[in-house]
Amino acid sequence: MAIYKTEGIILKHYNLREADRILTIYTKDYGKISAVAKGVRRSRSKLRGATQPLTYADLVLYQGKSMDTVTQCEIKEMFVALREDLYRWAYAVYMVELLDAMVPERQPQERVFVRFLTALHLVATLEEPETGALFFTVDLLGLLGYQPVLHRCASCHGSPKQEGGWVLSGSLGGLLCPDCAPLDPQGYRLAGGEIAVWRRLLELEIRLLPRLKISPILRKRLFQSLGYYLRYQLERRLKSVAFLQHLSLLEGDKKNPPKEN
Ligand SMILES: [Zn+2]
Repeated sequence: MAIYKTEGIILKHYNLREADRILTIYTKDYGKISAVAKGVRRSRSKLRGATQPLTYADLVLYQGKSMDTVTQCEIKEMFVALREDLYRWAYAVYMVELLDAMVPERQPQERVFVRFLTALHLVATLEEPETGALFFTVDLLGLLGYQPVLHRCASCHGSPKQEGGWVLSGSLGGLLCPDCAPLDPQGYRLAGGEIAVWRRLLELEIRLLPRLKISPILRKRLFQSLGYYLRYQLERRLKSVAFLQHLSLLEGDKKNPPKEN
């Protein structure tokens, strides 16, 4: 049995027996793993604080027959700004659920790990955290091989001559022009402008993201079209999306009523 070290971000946990907890961790070197943290729910456990969801930590694990055990967990970052703001926290929880749903166990992808970490920082610090979450969603689809065709019609390969009537199709893997739109009656009818933002996010260097301004209405439209596309890929709806929509109705619109521009 081997002991191994890595760094990782705790995605979620659930309680096991009296004092133990099963953690799902996205690690830099091994991808997504499940591991047990023993005795962690006892008040004197050293692992207790470090195994909370959305903690970035140095980990030492012991390889077990059926499941590995976390033996040491040292906090590198707790993302306090996320924990202190319900709006930011909700977007971080959405990114966790998205990552957890999209990546298989034990398939390391260091670029995904680095991007996830960067995205958590963005959602913790950007004036508009939703932009960080949108950036991560767009980026993750590309990194994991789910990038839809966005520069031309996925069926006839025609370029956009007009704005209206285009559809995003999950089954055909991208945009459909007004002529080809009937090929996917379940396709998502675009409201306008959201694909331009999607493309902009794909091309943008991360360091420029804090300066990017996306109007609330376009953020909402992009979030909705990504939601459609993710539902198609995952064959289910992410639970956190409903909560985000609820929050945005309560907070986002009150602060920034959507305006056309
Ligand atoms: Zn077409």
